[in-house]
Amino acid sequence: MNSSISERIVTIRSSLPTSVKLIAVSKQVSAEAIRSAYNAGIRDFGESRIQEAASKQAELQDLPDITWHFIGHLQGNKAKKAIEQFPWIHSVDNLKLAQRLDQLAQQLGVSPQVCLQVKILPDPSKSGWSVPELLADLPTLNQYKSLQIQGLMTIPPSGLKDSEILSVFNRNRELAKEIQEQNWSHIKMQHLSMGMSGDYKLAVQAGATMVRLGTILFGDRY
Ligand SMILES: *Cc1c(COP(=O)(O)O)cnc(C)c1O
Repeated sequence: MNSSISERIVTIRSSLPTSVKLIAVSKQVSAEAIRSAYNAGIRDFGESRIQEAASKQAELQDLPDITWHFIGHLQGNKAKKAIEQFPWIHSVDNLKLAQRLDQLAQQLGVSPQVCLQVKILPDPSKSGWSVPELLADLPTLNQYKSLQIQGLMTIPPSGLKDSEILSVFNRNRELAKEIQEQNWSHIKMQHLSMGMSGDYKLAVQAGATMVRLGTILFGDRY
C-alpha cells in the first residue's frame, strides 16, 4: 500500500458512523507507527499480547490520552498485568477468567471495562462462551461488581460468506438485547465489539459500536 497511515485513517473514519469507535489494532506494529496513527487522531489502540504492549506503552508514555484495549486471549497468570495496563478488556472469554479479573480489580481498586467474548457459531479455533453457556453464567457474572461489563465481543468463524457473517453479527446484537432485557444490575449491554479489516462494514451494518481494525490501517504485518 502506498497511501500513508493518516490517509487511510481519514478514509476509514469518514466511512464510519460517528457513533462507532475505531480501535486501531497495533499488535506487531511499532511505537512509531502508533504515533503516526495518534497524530492522525486515533486515541484507542488494541493489543493482543501483554508483554509486547508493555514496551510500546512505555515508549508512548508522553501520549497520556491513549486508551488501551486488550483484545487477545488472556491467560490467568497475565490477568493482573492486563488490568494494570488496559482500561478495556474485550476478550473476557470464560467465567474463571472473569472471576479472577474481578478479584484482582477489587484488590487494585480499579474498575476495568470489559466485553464478554461469545461464539455465536461453534468454533474450535477460538475461545469464548457459547450462547447457552453465557446465558447460564449471567447470574454469576452479575455478582462481579468490580468488573464493568459493557457488552459482547464476537469474531465470526473464518470461511463464511458475507451473508453468514452478517447473520452472526446480527445474532450477537440480538443476544445483547436479550441480556439487556433481563435487567441485570451489574451487566450492561451498551457495546458490541465486532468487525475486523475484512468484515467491519458488515459489523457496522449490524450495529457494532466498536470496530477493531489492524491490517487495513497499518498494512500487512504478516
Ligand atoms: C488482530 C486482531 C484484529 C485486527 O485484525 P485485522 O484483520 O488486521 O483488522 C481484531 N481483533 C482481534 C481480536 C485481533 O486479534
